[in-house]
Amino acid sequence: MFNYAPLSTHFARKGSNTIFMYHGIDSDGSNRFNTRHTSKIDFEKQLIYLKKTSNILTLEDFFQEKFINGKPNVSITFDDGYLNNYTNAKPLLEKYEVPATVFVTGINRTEDHFLWADFVDAIHLTNQNEVLIGDQVYQKINGIYTNTIGQSIYYYIKNVRANYTFKQLIYSQFPNVHDFLNLPENRELSQLMNDDQIVSLSQSPFVQIGSHGFYHNNLNKILLKDATHELKASKEYLEGLVNYEINTIGYPDGAYTDEVKDAAEKVGFNYQLATDHYQNSETDRSDKRIMNRKGIYNCDSWGNQLIL
Ligand SMILES: [Zn+2]
Repeated sequence: MFNYAPLSTHFARKGSNTIFMYHGIDSDGSNRFNTRHTSKIDFEKQLIYLKKTSNILTLEDFFQEKFINGKPNVSITFDDGYLNNYTNAKPLLEKYEVPATVFVTGINRTEDHFLWADFVDAIHLTNQNEVLIGDQVYQKINGIYTNTIGQSIYYYIKNVRANYTFKQLIYSQFPNVHDFLNLPENRELSQLMNDDQIVSLSQSPFVQIGSHGFYHNNLNKILLKDATHELKASKEYLEGLVNYEINTIGYPDGAYTDEVKDAAEKVGFNYQLATDHYQNSETDRSDKRIMNRKGIYNCDSWGNQLIL
């Protein structure tokens, strides 16, 4: 259902430059948890299409504007560090000799193993009418668990208690969700790369590893000192695995502030990426340290989404 060929008119506007953001590449484009996984078949078609129509650059070259005039210039990125990036995306990137950057967290080093967003998506697949998280009751309203003042769990985690301690509380309260995410049919959508897989992926001549924060916290909603600590922890962790400097960051949930950008630059992240929109479009647009990305989601034809 997502295999439509894009219309050639979508590429009528020459010279557009776009960084694309993928998440997972799975076997069949499942929307069971969320819309963040693209099927292998669609991804291969998209690579063939972009290769034919566009100039595909590494992220560093894109930031340095090594563009070709008269063609769309694009760069490809992946967020979250799913194992399926290693098993499904890497072989296709190598087959078509397309460069990409994969932004990885440090979650596989924690006891929790799963990204909080996948974990919360899976909580929503349970049949309970209400769940208790910490001291708050969440009732399922239109399919989303919502507290008594109308905040969804997602909102609460991103904006109200955005530190990792609260996420750990959630992980500990739902042991059945760990089991669910570990079921063979769910692993492809939830498993993250371990250290060895990150190392192996980094050795591909077509893949660069970048930071996606350590805990996938929304860095605009935690204390600056905690955000700085997380940035450093992520950089140290990844540089302990790969044999080059980690100087790119795709902000988790696209969340940052001007102060976080400064802190990230001081830590050594020269190339920073937003998600779908800038946090502060006035200052970010002219800020050479940060660029925006266009997310590819499994809820629209990819022809529509690859408009350049
Ligand atoms: Zn993410």
